[in-house]
Amino acid sequence: MKKTDILIQHQCPQCGAPAILAEAERLFQCEYCKVRSYLLQRDFFRYVLPHKASEDKEIVYFPYWRFRGTLFSCFAKKEHEEKFTDISYPAANTDELPMSLGFRTQALKLSFLSSEVKGNFVKPTLAIKDVMNIFRQIVNESTAEPPLYQKFIGDNLSLIYAPYYLQDDVWYDAILNAPVPSLSAPHIEYYKPDVQIHFIPALCPNCGGDLEGNRNALSLTCRRCYMIWKTEKNQLIQILYAVIGSDAEDTVWMPFWKIRAEVSGVKLDSYADLIRLANLPKAVLKTDESEEFYFWIPAFRVFPSVFLRLTKGMISVQPKDELTNQLPDGTVYSVTFPCSEAVRSLKIHIAGLIKPKRNLSNIIDKIGIRNPQALLVYVPFQDEAHEIIHYEYHLSVHKNIFEILKD
Ligand SMILES: [Zn+2]
Ligand SMILES: [Zn+2]
Repeated sequence: MKKTDILIQHQCPQCGAPAILAEAERLFQCEYCKVRSYLLQRDFFRYVLPHKASEDKEIVYFPYWRFRGTLFSCFAKKEHEEKFTDISYPAANTDELPMSLGFRTQALKLSFLSSEVKGNFVKPTLAIKDVMNIFRQIVNESTAEPPLYQKFIGDNLSLIYAPYYLQDDVWYDAILNAPVPSLSAPHIEYYKPDVQIHFIPALCPNCGGDLEGNRNALSLTCRRCYMIWKTEKNQLIQILYAVIGSDAEDTVWMPFWKIRAEVSGVKLDSYADLIRLANLPKAVLKTDESEEFYFWIPAFRVFPSVFLRLTKGMISVQPKDELTNQLPDGTVYSVTFPCSEAVRSLKIHIAGLIKPKRNLSNIIDKIGIRNPQALLVYVPFQDEAHEIIHYEYHLSVHKNIFEILKD
């Protein structure tokens, strides 16, 4: 995952000192003034690539959509497939622009688009929905068997502006200062892009205390008033949460989305339904019929294959431990995978449960999900040398993944 992280240069919103952010970074502490700021995301981030043109050149920024995430696919015969993708595509309808930004986003440091960036901006005309279809086609080019169902999960779309300029009627790539004779772009329309970047101080809206979180946290914790906050529409709002307690030493509490939803197309309302749908090696008891079924989706980012395995494990376990609202004193891992993406992934998980698999092709199109209700639940895992383990649930996750996520 790390290899494709883009880097963004910006200034501390408090003192103006220069800083470098990794793409997924939200909680940032300034090296100079030590003030911690939190970056809010309204819809998607807008970046500009740095240019090397001389000052007299009038820069024209061409927009590209960039998506970084995973395409999950279900097939009639084989197991689920997960393809991690990092792709870009011109956001303005032009045949003449290079089709992709290539490795530039990784080789160069980007900046957030701000009002200080001078130049003309070409208006994006390709809708998000359409570009996602194009991305799907690109990824599917290397897929042999047609998938029954597919979903992009990853929530990481951004708009990147690439700099060009005109000189003697020839377009120049302003990163390389090299002519691009094929580019004519006669019908481009300029516009004023949204340049708002919102940093707020990482302080609890309730008590003013410091908020804690991983650097890529989507949730922030206040240890003074035991509240957990998430961002919504440019502000912090409180999230309700529950905790499974543990007295064990070296415990790390991992966040999960416990989701109840109306599932149509297959019967998945009770634990008994799960036993039947997944053909679990268990007899259905009468009590299983009345026990409500829940999805348990990791609320932290892991590799796609681990995401599927962990979800399947938690769903099969259907944790019934007592829930409290007591935030533990030990290590609490931040939410790094949003609830909206967890909900988008539900059908993939249902498809992964269905056994025998030959039933899947008849059922998959009929499966629908309505009225999802989610609760954030912290589940205690044992913090071992190389893994975090839940012995009772028979679940483990290698820490390699966490090291990537933590820094
Ligand atoms: Zn500062
Ligand atoms: Zn507080």
